[in-house]
Amino acid sequence: MSSARTADQAAPGTDAPALVAALDIGGTKIAGGLVDPSGRLLYQVQQSTPAREDAGTVLGAVLRVLDELSAHPLWGRARSLGIGSAGPVDTSAGTVSPVNIAAWRGFPIVAEAGAHPAVRGLPVVLGGDAVAMTAAEHRYGAARPYADAICLVVSTGVGAGLVLGGSVHHGRTGNAGHLGHITVDLDGDPCPCGSRGCLETLASGTAIAARAARNGWRPPGPDASASAVAEAARLGDPIALAAFDRAAQALAAGIAATATLVELEAAVIGGGVAKAGDVLFAPLRRHLRTYAALPFAAGLTVLPARLGTDAGLVGAAALALGDPAGRESVG
Ligand SMILES: [Zn+2]
Repeated sequence: MSSARTADQAAPGTDAPALVAALDIGGTKIAGGLVDPSGRLLYQVQQSTPAREDAGTVLGAVLRVLDELSAHPLWGRARSLGIGSAGPVDTSAGTVSPVNIAAWRGFPIVAEAGAHPAVRGLPVVLGGDAVAMTAAEHRYGAARPYADAICLVVSTGVGAGLVLGGSVHHGRTGNAGHLGHITVDLDGDPCPCGSRGCLETLASGTAIAARAARNGWRPPGPDASASAVAEAARLGDPIALAAFDRAAQALAAGIAATATLVELEAAVIGGGVAKAGDVLFAPLRRHLRTYAALPFAAGLTVLPARLGTDAGLVGAAALALGDPAGRESVG
């Protein structure tokens, strides 16, 4: 046997793998993490988002997260920084305008984070939070076996991203796949986005809770959120079941339209509302049989997302890593 080593065989104990630094910027918290190539979150820190303060104060929280993160001994192995942010984002300009952070409008987060002394010199990759989740599910999670999939985050809003031809499809400004704001009800309620009858106005957790309350459901305790509605639905409450059925119907219409447009193999659903499990997934699959009628759109697989509470940071890291080359085995 030859003793020669090929370039990709590191000697045992040397060449520890490069890591990815990740930032997850949301309206309630700003998290930072160090992620290894297999998607494991090795270390994380977080600050609450001073969402009502001025732009510089919010940036200060981001920089403190980067200070803490870069003080960790593993930071030296970070080779890039991925940033997943609440949207809208503009990846072509490197800016973000998160709905829940009022002072950040067209805020140049890529330039500002990139100017941090520990980040300077590293490539910085920005994406919206739903596209980041899509990148994570595509690389490590439930969407891995599929070349064409949509990944949804159903929580207080509805976000989504697309995998097409084996690659995450970002779009020119990084907002492609924004399923929450396609119209599924022609004469529906006005949406804050400016349109009306948006999927989000029917299928978000906020919409589910509001529909249940409007139709007379009263929570047993102080919690009147969609998760309380889900619990009631599980116990057979007809109003709660109807609220989830309506949300599932809207999601099915949006997913079916997308499947018809671009031929999807799978829809992966994550976010807090997806924790309702069968209360959401059973009517969703049923309504999909109605709306995804053409043979090439029917038979779409619906799956729960696999990444849990770390999805934001792992997603930001997956953005920085780009599309996986082939289908490598991930431990
Ligand atoms: Zn809208």
